[in-house]
Amino acid sequence: MKLTITTRFVALSTMVVAFIFFLFNAFVYLEFMNVTIDNERQIVVSRLADLVRRMDKGTVSQAVTEVQHIVPDPRQMVRLLAPNGKVLAVATTQFRDRWVPSGFHASQMLGHGVMLYDEENHRILVASVSLHLKDGRVTLQWLENVASLDHSIAFVFYLLLTGSIGGLVLAAFGSYFLARYSLLPIREMIATARAITPGDLSSRIEVPRRKDELTELANTYNAMLDRILLAFSRERQFIADASHELRTPLSVLEGYVHLLRRWGWEDEEVRKESVAAIEEEVRHLRNMTSQLLTLAAIDQESSTDCDAIAVAAILKRVVRKWQRLNPQYTWIISLIEEHATIVRMNEVRLEQVIRALLDNACKYTPDGKEIKLAVLRKDEKIHLTIVDEGEGIPPEDLPHVTERFYRADKARSRQEGGVGLGLAICREIVEHYHGHFSLCDADGGKGTKAEIIFPAYDRKEEST
Ligand code: ATP
Ligand code: MG
Repeated sequence: MKLTITTRFVALSTMVVAFIFFLFNAFVYLEFMNVTIDNERQIVVSRLADLVRRMDKGTVSQAVTEVQHIVPDPRQMVRLLAPNGKVLAVATTQFRDRWVPSGFHASQMLGHGVMLYDEENHRILVASVSLHLKDGRVTLQWLENVASLDHSIAFVFYLLLTGSIGGLVLAAFGSYFLARYSLLPIREMIATARAITPGDLSSRIEVPRRKDELTELANTYNAMLDRILLAFSRERQFIADASHELRTPLSVLEGYVHLLRRWGWEDEEVRKESVAAIEEEVRHLRNMTSQLLTLAAIDQESSTDCDAIAVAAILKRVVRKWQRLNPQYTWIISLIEEHATIVRMNEVRLEQVIRALLDNACKYTPDGKEIKLAVLRKDEKIHLTIVDEGEGIPPEDLPHVTERFYRADKARSRQEGGVGLGLAICREIVEHYHGHFSLCDADGGKGTKAEIIFPAYDRKEEST
């Protein structure tokens, strides 16, 4: 059988209610029984006391006469006994002799010489008092059959039992409806979740107006759907952009192949131009595919299981090559001690980020200008900055240049062989490794400043 939350809730709450009923009813029942029998005991004691008052200071024969004149209730008996147990006088109407307790196996001592006996399914209260009369000692006994009390006690018992059963049925129904009402939003969520397909992510759960955990669950669920939808549409956009970007070099290639086929074999000039252009486009395609592969690979990498590396050492190593290949710029490098620049990151990826930023700095900066590089530490953060004196990024493009395939100056960038993925890759790598990437105008308004901030990694963190 499927154990739903509703079933479990109903079973548990009914069990708790049953337990509470049981304790409460047991208490009420026992208390009622005690109070009723105690009342009866007090009545018997007071009647016996009346009788004693009348007999006191008299003789045994006066006491016998006194007892013989008593006309008791059908459920009562009064006896006068000699010290040897011989019955001197009895007053009774319908009280049966067999109800008179024979031995001393009272089920309860009730105090003041009163005892409760169970005789032949009858409960008999026996109150005894010893009297010192003028001419001897006698024992006066008052016996009372309290069976009628059992009826009231049984009545109370059945009343409590029916009340409890009724209460339990009500509790079970109540908790069933409560559980169903409370879980209604969950059933709606299940229905909505079933209706969602990759093609239609537009359905949303209706958020209950009351403020409780289910409202929070519905909100979280809707927010998750929003994120999935966003990721899906970004993915679609990316595929559309990538295919568009791939189409351009492919049509250029196609154009040159046609050209070659028509005129190229005869015309030396056309042949040279076509081969150079085809080479250029193939290089562009290779760049683009390797960048696309990088983007796909970043997501698969673990951002925590990686080495501790010195940012300054890596920057120094990468820049040395660029300096040699681009002596037309004035390179200004300021680095702090390597051991103060340790971060946890994939070394290959950091090199990739630095190379993409240096590539941009060189591509978009005229010869003879300065390119400044620095690694410094502020508080627990490592800052890596690359500042150039190029033409800068127009303010309207600045927020978008880290988007995939975005180029600020389309014509110029394409001319430079730019795919428009360099900065997108930088941002994605840096953020993947819990860093922060930003671009702004360089101080003085001319040029661009790229800044990467990583949390510093101190080896002792690991030992603590
Ligand atoms: P690639 O994918 O080959 O790097 P790209 O350089 O065109 O191509 P990004 O590096 O992402 O692409 O840069 C996006 C755009 O931002 C560039 O097209 C360029 O217009 C602008 N840009 C980036 N860096 C600079 C810079 N240092 N100075 C001026 N413009 C820049
Ligand atoms: Mg670039």
